Parts: sequence; structure tokens; C-alpha cells
Amino acid sequence: MQTSNQSLKPTTTKINENKHLEIGGCDLVELAAKYGTPLYVYDEQTIRTVAQEYKKAFSSYPKVNMLYASKAFMTKAIVRILDEEGFGFDMVSGGEIYTAHTAGADMKKCLFNGNNKSSDEIKMAINYGVGLISADNFFELKLLDNASKAAGKVTDILLRVTPGIECHTHEYIQTGHLDSKFGFDLTQVDEVIEQIQNKYNNLNIVGLHAHIGSQIFETSIYYDEVEVLIKEMARIKQKYNINPTHINLGGGLGIKYTKEDCPPSIYEIADKIISSININSEKYNIEKPEIHIEPGRSIIGTSGVTLYTVGSSKQVPQGKKYVAVDGGMADNPRPSLYQAVYTAELANRPEDKNEEKVTIAGRFCESGDILIQGINLPKLKEGDILCFYDTGAYGYSMSSNYNRVLKPAAVLVNNSQSDIIINRENYEHLVSLDVIPSRLIKN
Ligand SMILES: *Cc1c(COP(=O)(O)O)cnc(C)c1O
Repeated sequence: MQTSNQSLKPTTTKINENKHLEIGGCDLVELAAKYGTPLYVYDEQTIRTVAQEYKKAFSSYPKVNMLYASKAFMTKAIVRILDEEGFGFDMVSGGEIYTAHTAGADMKKCLFNGNNKSSDEIKMAINYGVGLISADNFFELKLLDNASKAAGKVTDILLRVTPGIECHTHEYIQTGHLDSKFGFDLTQVDEVIEQIQNKYNNLNIVGLHAHIGSQIFETSIYYDEVEVLIKEMARIKQKYNINPTHINLGGGLGIKYTKEDCPPSIYEIADKIISSININSEKYNIEKPEIHIEPGRSIIGTSGVTLYTVGSSKQVPQGKKYVAVDGGMADNPRPSLYQAVYTAELANRPEDKNEEKVTIAGRFCESGDILIQGINLPKLKEGDILCFYDTGAYGYSMSSNYNRVLKPAAVLVNNSQSDIIINRENYEHLVSLDVIPSRLIKN
């Protein structure tokens, strides 16, 4: 059965009676006119559908906790939607913890994770009742224990480990291979446990945590990951007098960015994970663990599109034709950061025939600010509205104010209704944190 991460477009995308693209019952050309561009548009139905697909795919396994990897895209409205769908949140900063808390997330279901958490952030996580903290390195064990002691609590922790599995994705988004900045090497686990047993009385190891990478298309990787973690749990249990019960498998399931991409379905991933647990918990003779999974991209990526207005264009004699839009690397750094490839369509003339191959350039002052390298489209005119698909993950969340360009707004669409979920920045916001020392004030 097909799942939403295998679709190129939000599930509600269609061409309406105005011959415009429509998502969530909202005409994209009208949204661009109403809210301005660039504009991120999120389809609530797609988000809820994927969340439900995850729950359904794992429903045959009794002990599952779904966490959404907040870093993919987090706002208070997204927290509300995924909290309603029963998800907890995987958080990596005080900002993400604060957002989850203020939007009313169930903090017990959440995990605080990261390779250099500050002691203030750890304190905050403990005070807000975050259910689990992932311990990433030796330095952190001490911080975690100190903060727990100060709060008079014993903190449940997962040990973040690198399972030594390489996935075939871009080097920058691989995380589970041995030489990674994240987590403990499996050969260090004994020392971690011994340190905790000998000197950290306020830490309680409840399980292991791993995350092998992002935009993963190979299901066998999850099978292997489960085996590595279960084998390690069995070893720990036998050697030490502790009983870890959880494994957190991270996220990483890929989505379809172009027609050529064929990610596996959520059901295929779930089947691999569950069958690996069944086989390996028997093989290594341990009780079936509680599993946590923390998808980010596959929850939010497909639901979001970005609308841009077409501006200038340039034909290089005997070279490429560049068409520039009113956004670029500041609202979507992925193409310049790791050669990510996107698909776009004209929102105002989706049925027009493709006539030329163009390069879609951003507006920022970097030659590398190219959003799409060569795409066939109808002849673009100034004022056309281009819709980029699959920009829901790692777009806004990685956005910047490069060139002092204002950050776009984000709207949520559903049942023909559109609501702002992030306001567009204005120039006052932009300078609101700037300070001129009194000696430099112009008089
Ligand atoms: C980034 C990350 C995720 C989410 O990855 P996606 O590819 O967006 O699903 C989950 N867990 C951890 C620990 C991460 O670092």
C-alpha cells in the first residue's frame, strides 16, 4: 500500500476550476496574492495522514512511541497537530523544548537529544518534565547527573550509540557510521555503564538510541540497526545488573522529491523493524523492547510547498537560461548545502506545455544560490507563481536572514481555509535585536 512519503505532492493537490493549482481546497495563486511570496504552504490533511500511516503501520506492535523530529519544522501549530495525533517530540535545543512546552505537548513522551547540550538546556528539560534524555558523550554524563541531583530527580536516559551502519545518502546527512560526531562507539558502552554505576547516582539507563541518517531508501538498514541494538542490549543485560527496555531507532525514512525517487512505504519500514525485533529478540534471548521512532522529513516534507514569484531572467549567449525568483538559499538552503533536487510547477498555468529548460536561481548574493539546475517548464513570465514541492522539511527550519532578507510567512491550509502559522517578518522585526552603543548614535 502506498503511503504519503511516496507521493510527490500534498495529498489534496489538484487543478481547480480556475485552472490553478490548489492544495487543501485553497487556490495557490490566491494564497500568493493574499499573503505575498515567498510563502510556505502546509497541508494539514497530509500531515495528519502521514502521522496516521505511521501509527497504523506499527499498530501490530504493542509498545511503540512515536516522536516527531522537531528540527524538520517546528512551530506551535505543528506541535498542536502532532500532539493531537499522539506524537511526542524529539528535541535538540532549549528553543525546541520551549516551543513544545508552550504549545502544550505531552512532555513525558518527549526526548531531549543532541551532541552538545548545555547545562541550562538540560536543566530546562528536567524542569519541564521531558520524559527521556539521550546521553551523547562522556562529558554530558556529568552534566546530566549534576542537573538531576540539583533537581532531586533520577533522570531516565538513553545511550546514543553509533551502530556502525552506513547508508547511501549524502555524507552530511549520514550519522550512524562509526566516525560520526554523534554518540558513543559501541566499544565505549562498557565504560559508560561503569562510570554511571560507580559515580552517577541520578542517572537511570533505560535503553539505547541510534539514528543512521536521513533520506534513506533502503529498508534493510533498519533491519540491521535493530539487530545491532538488540544484540547490544542483550550483552549489557548479561554483563551488568541492569535491564534496558527501550530502543530508539531514530528517523530517516526518505520522501519523493522528484519523479525518479522511489522511497519505500511506511508499511515496508515498519515490517522490517517489527520482523527484525521478533527474530532478534528471540535470537538474543531478550524480552521485546519498547520501540521509539522519530521521523522528521517523512512526516512534514511532503505536506509543504513553497510559492515564489518569478522576476528577472537572463539568457547567457550560447549558455543556460536563468530565471530568478523572489526567494532562494535563505528560505531553502538544501540545494546549495547538499545538492538537493526539487520539482516545481507553475501554480497559475499548471496545464501549459513545457517549452524550455531553465535554471531557477535564487535572489541571494552567492553564485551557488541555484534552486533547480535545469527544469523543463512553460515559458516563464514575470509575475508567474512557481510552486516548489516537498519543501516542508528543513526549509523554514534552516532558513536565515542572509542579505537581510525577511523570512517568509507560513500558512496552514485545510478544507478551503488558510491560516497563518508563522507571520511574515517585517523590517521592524529584522532590526529589533540590533543595538547601537550610545557612543555611536548619530546626533
Ligand atoms: C534528524 C534526526 C531525526 C529525523 O530525521 P529525518 O530524516 O528527518 O526523519 C531523528 N532522530 C535524530 C536523532 C535526528 O538527528
